[in-house]
Amino acid sequence: MNVLRNHLPTADLQRLDAAHHMHPFSDGDELNAKGARVITSAKGVMLTDSDGAEMLDGMAGLWCCNMGHGRREMADAAHAQMLQLSYYNTFFQTSHPPVIALSEKLAELAPEGMNHVFYASGGSEANDTNIRLVRHYWAAKGKPGKKVIIARKNGYHGSTMGGASLGGMSAMHAQGGLPIPDIAHIDQPYWWGEGGDMTPEEFGLARARQLEEKIAELGEDRIAAFIAEPVQGAGGVIVPPETYWPEIQRICDAHEILLIVDEVITGFGRTGTMFASEGMGIRPDIITVAKGLSSGYAPIGGSILSDEVAETINAGGDFNHGYTYSGHPVSCAVALENLRLMVEEKVVETVAADTGPYLAEQWGTLADHPLVGQVEIKGMMAGLVMTPDKASRAAFSTPAGYVGLKCREHCFAGGLVMRHVGDRMIISPPLVITRSEIDLLITRARAALDATLVDVQKRGLM
Ligand code: PMP
Repeated sequence: MNVLRNHLPTADLQRLDAAHHMHPFSDGDELNAKGARVITSAKGVMLTDSDGAEMLDGMAGLWCCNMGHGRREMADAAHAQMLQLSYYNTFFQTSHPPVIALSEKLAELAPEGMNHVFYASGGSEANDTNIRLVRHYWAAKGKPGKKVIIARKNGYHGSTMGGASLGGMSAMHAQGGLPIPDIAHIDQPYWWGEGGDMTPEEFGLARARQLEEKIAELGEDRIAAFIAEPVQGAGGVIVPPETYWPEIQRICDAHEILLIVDEVITGFGRTGTMFASEGMGIRPDIITVAKGLSSGYAPIGGSILSDEVAETINAGGDFNHGYTYSGHPVSCAVALENLRLMVEEKVVETVAADTGPYLAEQWGTLADHPLVGQVEIKGMMAGLVMTPDKASRAAFSTPAGYVGLKCREHCFAGGLVMRHVGDRMIISPPLVITRSEIDLLITRARAALDATLVDVQKRGLM
C-alpha cells in the first residue's frame, strides 16, 4: 500500500484533493471544479506532473528552490540529523549543535556587524518576530512610544496577521480586519505603473521621500521601523529606480528608526550577491530570511540582527517570544548543507558573472515582443509587463490579471512555470539554472507571449 498515493491516476488524486485539501490563496470552488495540477517529482530545474508532463520550474517552487530539486546531499543531511537528534527546542536554556553551527555560518555570510539570528519556520513568522522585536527594542531603550512600523503598498511580508499587516496587499487587508494597529503604508516605487510624467530617477526620489513625510506626519517619537523588500517580489518583481534606496537609507540614518530589509526572496544569491542589501548599498538593522536559506528542502526562516539590536534585546530582560520550531535541528542541518553546497559550488559567483548576465540578455530580447511594455531584471528575478500600447504605458481594458492569467495558462501548456501578477509575468528560476536551460525558458516564454497575443487580438484588446 502506497500511503503517499503516488500510484493513483490524476483524476483520483484531484478528486481526493478537492474533497479534503484547502489550498492557499485560491478560489476553492473554482479550483475543485477544474482540478489541481499534481506535481509528483522534480530534478534540477524540471518538474514532472501526475500525467508525466515535464515543466521548467521558472519560479523555483515559490521563489525558494535556489539549489534546484532533488539533491541527494540535502536528503542525506536530513536523514542523518533525524537519526542523531530529530527534535529538541531552544527554549528553557537549551541549544543543540545544528542551530549553533547555522548561526555561526549565517553570521559569517551576513553583512558586516550582523552576527545574531532569531529563528522561525518561514518568512511570515520571522516578520511577526520583527514586529514584536522592534517594539521591545525601543521599550528596552526607554522609548515605548516608538511602536509604528512603516511599510509599503503592494509590498509582501507574509500571510500571518502581522506579516499581512506589514504587507500592502489590499485584497489581503480586505479579509480578516487588517492591518493590525500601528502599521502605516507609503506608496511603492513602481515607475511603469505609477510614475506618470516623471523620469524613473525623479520618481524614485519622490517615492522615497514619502517615508520622510510619513515620519513627519506621525512623529519620529512614534516610529519604530521601516520595512521593505529590496526588489518587490510578490508585488510583481518591481526593481526600484536607482535613486530609491540611497534616499531611503539617508532618511533612515537621519531619523531614529530601524531599517528592516525583507530578504526572504532576495537573500542567498538571488540578485547576484549573497544579500541584495550588499549589492544595493543598503545597511539594514534587521534582515528577514527564509526560502533560499534551505532552498525549500525544509521549512526555516529567521531574523538576522545587527550587534546593536541584539545587544539591546539581550540586555532587555526576557523577550517573551518564540516558536516550537525556532531553530528546528533538521531544518538547521538542511540549511547548513544548502549553504555549504552553495558556497562550494560558487553558485552566487556564477549568478553574478555568468548566468545572471546571460538571463538578463535573453530576457531583454522579449522587450521587442508586441505585447511587452517593459522588462525588468535583477540577478535571477525578472518581470515583464504586458500592455496594449507601449508608448502610453496603458493597461488593458479587461480587469487586471485577465491577460496575465491567459499567458500563464499558455506557459503551463507549453512546459514552463511562469507566474502572473496582474498583467505582469514574472520568473525566479533556481539559481543553478544553466545557459541551455535559460534558452529553453526564453523560447517557451516567447511562445506563450505569441499565443497570448493571438488571444488578445481575437478579443480586440489591441
Ligand atoms: N516576505 C517576503 C518578501 C516573501 O516573498 C514571503 C513569501 N513569498 C514572505 C515574507 C513570507 O514567507 P512565508 O511564506 O515563508 O511565510
